Amino acid sequence: MQPPPSPLGVPADALVVLMGASGSGKSTFAARHFGPNDVLSSDALRGLIAGDQSDQSATEDAFELLRIALRMRLARGRLSVVDATNVQRWARRLLLDAARRHGRPAIAIVLDLPLAICLERNELRLANRLPAAAIRRQHRWLADSMPMLAAEGFARIDLLRSLDDVDVARVEIT
Ligand code: GDP
Ligand code: MG
Repeated sequence: MQPPPSPLGVPADALVVLMGASGSGKSTFAARHFGPNDVLSSDALRGLIAGDQSDQSATEDAFELLRIALRMRLARGRLSVVDATNVQRWARRLLLDAARRHGRPAIAIVLDLPLAICLERNELRLANRLPAAAIRRQHRWLADSMPMLAAEGFARIDLLRSLDDVDVARVEIT
């Protein structure tokens, strides 16, 4: 028997950056651990703008809107969970810069699940299914990101590397 893991402490005014390839379980994790008003989802914003969460032509607009909403929330000290892959450094940089400008701590929650799980879930998907090559690419970008993550300015990085890690994770708003 393992002792229960300590909860992931998240300050009530934090920026939470979820990271992981499509299919790693970011949206499920966000829905399970955070309130619906606290989550900024690039897929949901694509849906809002284009009527289709997977309409890639709306990606740029969706992220522009995400960053505007994020700035407004951080200015108010509202917990802000960004549900997007965030596997590229420049994407994280924009989020971290916003948190820094508003004096809010940034926490990374990394869903670094095996590629095979992401691919399998993608195949089972009814909506938002991506080409397998896109999932492979995101997974590789995440792997490439890991060594430099600690130097990017996160107050804490929580790493979930298995289904079990994700299963037992608890979030405590502090
Ligand atoms: P995202 O693309 O990273 O946002 O991943 P999603 O949260 O949409 O999850 C992709 C698929 O995996 C969905 O069909 C989920 O139901 C499933 N899934 C996600 N997290 C879990 C989990 O912790 N356990 C199980 N059994 N399935 C999960
Ligand atoms: Mg998702």
